Formats: sequence, structure tokens, C-alpha cells
Amino acid sequence: MRVIYHGLCLNCRGAISDERLLKFGICENCLERVDDLRSWKHVLKALERRGNLRFVDDIFNFYKAFGDLSKFFRKAVGHRMWSLQEVWAKRVLLKRSFSIVAPTGVGKTVFGIVLALHFATNGRRSYILVPTTLLVQQISEKIDAYSERLGICPRKICYHAGLIEKEKKELLEKVANGDFDVLVTTERFLKNHFELLRGKHFDFMFVDDVDSFLRSPRNIDRILEILGFDNATIASAIQLMAFRREAARLKRMGERPSEVLASFESIKSQIENYKAKNNIGLLVVSGATMKAKRTKRIKLFEELLEFQIGFKPELLRNIKDFYLEAKEDVEDQVLSLIKTFGSGCLIFVPSVFGREHALKLGEFLNANGVKANTYAKLNDALLAAFERGEYDALIGVASFRSPLARGGRSSREGSLRYLHWRAEDGDQTKLGGVQPRQAPYTS
Ligand SMILES: [Zn+2]
Repeated sequence: MRVIYHGLCLNCRGAISDERLLKFGICENCLERVDDLRSWKHVLKALERRGNLRFVDDIFNFYKAFGDLSKFFRKAVGHRMWSLQEVWAKRVLLKRSFSIVAPTGVGKTVFGIVLALHFATNGRRSYILVPTTLLVQQISEKIDAYSERLGICPRKICYHAGLIEKEKKELLEKVANGDFDVLVTTERFLKNHFELLRGKHFDFMFVDDVDSFLRSPRNIDRILEILGFDNATIASAIQLMAFRREAARLKRMGERPSEVLASFESIKSQIENYKAKNNIGLLVVSGATMKAKRTKRIKLFEELLEFQIGFKPELLRNIKDFYLEAKEDVEDQVLSLIKTFGSGCLIFVPSVFGREHALKLGEFLNANGVKANTYAKLNDALLAAFERGEYDALIGVASFRSPLARGGRSSREGSLRYLHWRAEDGDQTKLGGVQPRQAPYTS
């Protein structure tokens, strides 16, 4: 033993030696011996026998739930979650509301659908809200495809303008009766048929790609109500914000805001009590930009759901960005990088160099034993071939709208690398590489 770490025992959060930290991370006070224990299951059993099962149980249950969800996702979609989706999934399992700000194509909608189905299998109700009828129809098809693969039959209601009157009437009746697990509608439905949704509890609400949606304060109130907040609690939250401002003002003037703070704390605890009693649903909002201003109404989400609307694209920075100075022969450099890091490479050629250059690079790589494809337009078939390992590298011309920027679509086993050539200041070319983490968590 060389080091004692305070607070790192996974079970009692007490002190633990480096040796024990390397074996399950349970200290000697919690379990005298761990040498004969083969797996986590045995560790948990031993702790349980000693009546010593504390925090580690939560961690174990969390990872078990996460492992189950990962499998569920993989079965439904056909490939596993990629790292950003895993982060979102973990947040949902931790019962946190949050916003996703990411470009289209990174798997936000797929994530929302799979989560809704997962909730449905646990007897819990979800609402997926999208901007257009077309999206309702697409999601409906995806729900069917995933459900078939999962072997489940969730009660879904996908209401949109393309239905005939008779169908609409039937579905509205079902909504009114609460006869569904997953509801998918446009924003318009929320506005026009909100009365039908009153008093129906939703456990999970996924608001997809609706940058304009949150500009309307009425929509925010409707969402809060669907998630289980009553008017009195919403009013309390507004009061809370006023107290917060008042306390800040007094502080600026050099006064002590103790009275204001006391009222603040009392309202805050009222809200917490309400939330604890009323099983409030989870909210996930996704958008490409989230241009919504941080209006007073949006701040309500922060007060009530401890939720912050993100305003910048959120990319998981489990990634290393780095660059190499380009040498005279950039092509040789690229070849040597691919040989070092292996197959699975996305290459962007700067748009100033253009397609000619991309084709030339492709020829060069192929001549040197790297299976490369220079594409004009990236389609699903090509991506699928790449994911199956039929190509070592895909080469495209970089542009902001390039589908390859949607690298998240690609969940090829192992690590995915991409090189990105950038032209800076016109004449200086740099070679950059980005390497996501090696091994996403697998159950
Ligand atoms: Zn301990």
C-alpha cells in the first residue's frame, strides 16, 4: 500500500487504500477481504450479508439500468448508442431534464423514440412533440420498426393533419381516454387540443427540433402542466425568480437580503415538496440552435426542472483535438497517419482545394493499400459500407453542411478517427485530427 484516498470508497465514501481501490473500490471497513470475490455480484452479496450495502447499490443499479437500456437501444436500432447518446441516456436514467443542442443527424430523434419505447415497456407514458406532419409520420414508422425488432406492442397515437376525419376522431377519443403509451403530435395539436391532455400525466416528454416553439410563453406553460405542475406551483416559481432578483439588487446596494432569502427558501422548499409528491415527468428539448432567448418564461424551466436550456451546440468533449503542421507532402502524411491509427477514417479536404484534390488523394491512398472512397454525395448505403469496414477511409470536401460532419451517425466498432484539413489564413495548411474515445461503455 502506498496511498490512502479519502472519500473514495464506493460504498461508504470513506478512506480507501490504493490496493483496494484497484479491486472493486470497496474499503476494508466495508469488506475485510475481497480476494476470493470474483465479480460485482459477489461483492454486492457479501456486502448485503454483512448488512453493509450502502452507496454502491445505487451505482450498481444505475449501471445495470444503463446496460439494459443500451441493449434495448441496440436491439431496436440495430447498432449501439454512440457516445453522445449514451450521455443523454445516463441523464435520463438520473431523472434529469435537459436540452440537446446539436445539429440534425446526430441521432436526437432516434434517441427520443427509443427512450419513449423504453418508458412504454415500463408502463410509463411519453409525448414526442415535433414541428411537422411529415415528422409525425416518420416517427410513427420508426416506432413500428423498432417495436417489431423489440417484440413489443406499445399503444401509440400519431396524430397529424394527413389523417382522414374518421381516424382523427378515433384518435382524439383515445387521447381523451388516456388509451396510449406514446403520443406523437405536431405543435399545433398541443395548441388546439390541449384540453384533452389536461390531467394526463406524462413521464417523459421529448420536444424535438422546435427552435421556435419555446418562444411562446403559452407553450412553456402547457409543457409544465403536462409534466405535472399545477398553476400554483408555476406561480410560486415566478415569485421565486422575483425574490432572486430582489436579493441580488439588495446585495448590490450593500444591504443584507436576509428577509428576502428567508421567503425565497420557504417557497423553494414548497416547490421541492410539490415535486417530491407529484412524480414530475422528465423533459428533453432538442434543437439545432436553440435561438430562443432566455426569457422569463424559459427561466421557469430552470427553476422548476433544474434545467438549463443550452445555447451553444453541445458536443461531448471526450475527444482530443490536435493538429500537425503540414509537411510538404501532405498525402504521405495522411497515409502515415492512417497506417498508424488504422482503418476507420473520415477525411475532409478543404473546400478551397476542391473535389479534384479529394479524388487525387483517394487514388493515392488506394494505390498505397488503403481502401478509400471519395464521395460526391454521402448516402446511407456508403455510410453502411463504411461501418461494415468495406472502406478504411471516406474522403469528402469539407463544408459546414457536409453530411460527414454528422460523424455521429457512424458507429463503427472501435475508434473512429477523422482528419480534417484546414486552410488557415489563406496560405498555411494545417492537418488536424480528432480522435474520439476508444471504447464506449458496453454492457
Ligand atoms: Zn467503505
